Amino acid sequence: MSAVSLTQIVKRFGDFTAVHPMSLDIEEGSFVTLLGPSGCGKTTTLRMIAGLLDPTEGEIAIKGRRVNDVPIHKRNLGLVFQNYALFPHKTVAENVAFGLNYRNVGKEDAKRKVAEALDLVQLPDLGARYPKELSGGQQQRIALARAIVIEPDVLLLDEPLSALDANLREDMRVELKRIQQRIGVTTVFVTHDQTEALAMSDQIIVMSKGRVEQVGAPEEVYNSPATEFVAQFLGASNLLTAQCTSVLGSEMTLELSGFPPLVIPRSRARDSLGTGPVRLVIRAEKLHLMPADAAADGRISVEAMVENVDYQGQSARYFLRVGKHQLQAINMIEDHPFSAGATVSLRFRAGDCAALPVE
Ligand code: ADP
Ligand code: MG
Repeated sequence: MSAVSLTQIVKRFGDFTAVHPMSLDIEEGSFVTLLGPSGCGKTTTLRMIAGLLDPTEGEIAIKGRRVNDVPIHKRNLGLVFQNYALFPHKTVAENVAFGLNYRNVGKEDAKRKVAEALDLVQLPDLGARYPKELSGGQQQRIALARAIVIEPDVLLLDEPLSALDANLREDMRVELKRIQQRIGVTTVFVTHDQTEALAMSDQIIVMSKGRVEQVGAPEEVYNSPATEFVAQFLGASNLLTAQCTSVLGSEMTLELSGFPPLVIPRSRARDSLGTGPVRLVIRAEKLHLMPADAAADGRISVEAMVENVDYQGQSARYFLRVGKHQLQAINMIEDHPFSAGATVSLRFRAGDCAALPVE
């Protein structure tokens, strides 16, 4: 039985459709992320699961029970939003205990549960403080403690880290994942940040314009994007129009002007792809710049011209030209720092290319 299942849910606001028919099964104990740009319908979807918004169509079930008509406080969910929304006039302990007051938990039990939750978020000594006496990161941990103290069936998190500054956000990412694994709570996490999604999730649901573009494990959506949108949204990709000239057994051959024939495994292409025009995808970090006179090494090698370099500290983004194609490569720069105007040998493996239908 799924922890959460959505069956053809739709949300319309007037004649605007924020979520198109969407079906999804979320496995018990998993960490699932709704990932997509601002306005793609992530919050709307989460709010429907929470019971803060009614779906226009479709069914929502939590642990096998249809909850369309069940109000939010009877769904046994933990919620955390970007702005932590702690009660300013209650202490930390009172904030955390809040959800327990409605659940007929005895006083001693409540005290113990609050202490456990504060331990779990690693703030055992702050119970007597008020929210304004805490840093942003601490407040967000308290919001998390308040959400998990009730032992929810599902934890719903809407961009909980995005108000924190970059370093703290990375620490909290690790922390949140640790807590989730420790208590094993099914979690639906919303973010527009692809690195957050890749680092934390068991499954990523990539959304665009109210539709699901792809559902898969992080490696799957990253390495085998289902659509151009996914290829571009999850990291820097080169997208080039190529011709598929043959499909033989488990391999297909792509022709791209200025390149030798590229033989790629069919597993790197969408099932429906046959011969004809295709979109070839290759990640910027899979293209390696070598000196023009470097010895052959079994990889594909083409001559490329460095048009521009964007220095990024440990790495650099190179803007390249190969015949009529423009490409980007992201390389560590310790080995070969190339400058604009240099001619280089561009190396890559055909197996790192993926093929998509032309949209
Ligand atoms: P996300 O969380 O992915 O940024 P939202 O789910 O908040 O996106 O919004 C999806 C779309 O629905 C947006 O275009 C937004 O403007 C629209 N929308 C959200 N809530 C309402 C509302 N109450 N009334 C009208 N349009 C809304
Ligand atoms: Mg949102």
